[in-house]
Amino acid sequence: MFVFMFACDVFVMGKGVSEMFQDATLRVDIVFKGETSKENVSVAGIYRNEGWTGKVIKEVSDESIQKGDFLYSLVDCATSDIIWRDGFCTLYDEYLHSEWKSKRPRAFEHSILMPMPRKKSVLILYNRNWDGDNVEILRDTIDVLRVASCTTNLNPNVKVLKNSGNPKENLDILILADAYTASEQGKFDKVAADLSNRWLNRSPWNRFKNNISVRTAFIASDTNSVGDERDTVNIKHTVLGSRFGWLDSDRYLINNSIFKQMDYIGTIPADIIVVAVNTREYGGGGVYNEITTISADHPSALELILHEAGHSFVGLADEYFCDYEDMENYFNTSIEPWQPNVTTLKEFEKKWKNSYEQGTTGLHEGAAYHTRGMYRSSENCLMRELSVPFCKVCEGELEKSIEEYIVSNK
Ligand SMILES: [Zn+2]
Repeated sequence: MFVFMFACDVFVMGKGVSEMFQDATLRVDIVFKGETSKENVSVAGIYRNEGWTGKVIKEVSDESIQKGDFLYSLVDCATSDIIWRDGFCTLYDEYLHSEWKSKRPRAFEHSILMPMPRKKSVLILYNRNWDGDNVEILRDTIDVLRVASCTTNLNPNVKVLKNSGNPKENLDILILADAYTASEQGKFDKVAADLSNRWLNRSPWNRFKNNISVRTAFIASDTNSVGDERDTVNIKHTVLGSRFGWLDSDRYLINNSIFKQMDYIGTIPADIIVVAVNTREYGGGGVYNEITTISADHPSALELILHEAGHSFVGLADEYFCDYEDMENYFNTSIEPWQPNVTTLKEFEKKWKNSYEQGTTGLHEGAAYHTRGMYRSSENCLMRELSVPFCKVCEGELEKSIEEYIVSNK
């Protein structure tokens, strides 16, 4: 397979970026499947939604480490210029790292969203392998004249809790209801308002308050009972199918119905999507640029949002470590991980080496499930323990991610 090194890229951008894209969103649905480590990926659908309200469109830059276990590029067919690129992680990749893959063959959904190009383009998807090289796993032509509009019969009840203006110039949070019955909409409204108010008062989110809008979307579920992925008998049919027990972890609460989640959202501006699940039982999950799911009724629900959005919105790693042997092989400690808040010291200069040498951050061994060979910047951080603030490195990375959606600070 073709091995693509982003570090060697040279980008030639001959035209202004506004000429490259339409005011529309391109959604590419992908299915990952299989029970072995061999990648098995297919396109399941390509759709168009009117309007682009995601990241502010800029020229593709080569400067920073690309985040995600999967990376993609959109290449203009006529010029071969890379006009857009981004990355993501998947529950599928976590599944491949787990014992589950030998027990239960599964398929996993993922939707990639990007601005709709004006001209015929090629989408190229890469998977970062164990050695950190990006291996091409999928290539598909986007013929812009032949992309179908996305239609759905899901009509959620949408409420604006906080309006900071044009979604193209601001960050938009969307809270989706799962496992609330029709008579529980009032309960969801109250929980979502309380959580988002407290969320925007926490650092660093509070500093961008005037550039953040919050909306909720509600679709009633037939039941308010949340199932367990390992229980194949008592299946609970909530609207997004959020369940505990993913990857054999009691507290791993995730909705794996990504395509339905994207249909649920439709054209509602949604830079950060939080699925609020109607349960008091402790649980949550966050996968970079894919899912954020939390137990909305748990006393730590806000901390769960902050931690899980650290994963899903910023691509932060867990800073805790544990004695589970299988987790010790989660990262290759002989290369620098792409996650910005942990380092193996192989390329520390790409992380927080500067602030470490200035004495404003630290270096503590033990992070990202590894007791040895992986370091974090602070004794404690919200990516390690729920009851404490973010460390300086995580705060800085959160700020950078928020700023990607904002045109000018108010
Ligand atoms: Zn941190």
